[in-house]
Amino acid sequence: MSAEKNHLAERAARAEKIIAAPQEYKICEGCDSIVKLRAPACPNCHGYRFDESSEAVVEHAKLLASRPQRTVTAEDLS
Ligand SMILES: [Zn+2]
Repeated sequence: MSAEKNHLAERAARAEKIIAAPQEYKICEGCDSIVKLRAPACPNCHGYRFDESSEAVVEHAKLLASRPQRTVTAEDLS
């Protein structure tokens, strides 16, 4: 019931943190996750191609904060 709302708030808080320090994050080009800059590979898809541009990270964090929890899976892409 309010779980979705709480989750959104959580995501918004996380996004805020990312937006405050985008240089500490990067975007996985495999699954679009925002991961810590120091992570050697994406924890979600184990990809190792990243977009490290701070601008892109900020844009992406805003996007993630504004949409409901949803994970892009292989099924979604087919
Ligand atoms: Zn990934």
